[in-house]
Amino acid sequence: MPDTEPKSLDVRKGIHSDQGGATMLAFCPTCWNEITNSPSFCRKCGVNVDVASPEYERQLLNLVPLSNATKRAEICLLLGHRAKQSAVPYLATLVCTDPERLVKVAALRALSKIGDLSAVREIARVAANNTSPVYGIANDLLKSLNGL
Ligand SMILES: [Zn+2]
Repeated sequence: MPDTEPKSLDVRKGIHSDQGGATMLAFCPTCWNEITNSPSFCRKCGVNVDVASPEYERQLLNLVPLSNATKRAEICLLLGHRAKQSAVPYLATLVCTDPERLVKVAALRALSKIGDLSAVREIARVAANNTSPVYGIANDLLKSLNGL
């Protein structure tokens, strides 16, 4: 099957307009203590946590291979909350390669939160693959992203 680009993807910028406002839930990348404000220092181990920084993303990604499925899913959701395009290739890989459906779903949801063209393209790729265990969810997310 040729790897055709999905057409008619009307992706408007600013889908994720919920920046600011509610406090973002975060975790210390060192001890996994919950952080309620960022940037700040972890009250448990004193590490500086700035969830918007590229360093934080690297630390999260380093945690993935060491974490159980629940934590891996939480990491995906955090990457979605950060809404940084840099996490898209990693999330796309997790959707395909993670053995746990829970994590695949979380990675897909994170991609839809990020919602830029590259993220939508990855969701469309899964939505076109009816052998994927998260095929149905990918299609639902794609529909809502396209405002259908
Ligand atoms: Zn800590």
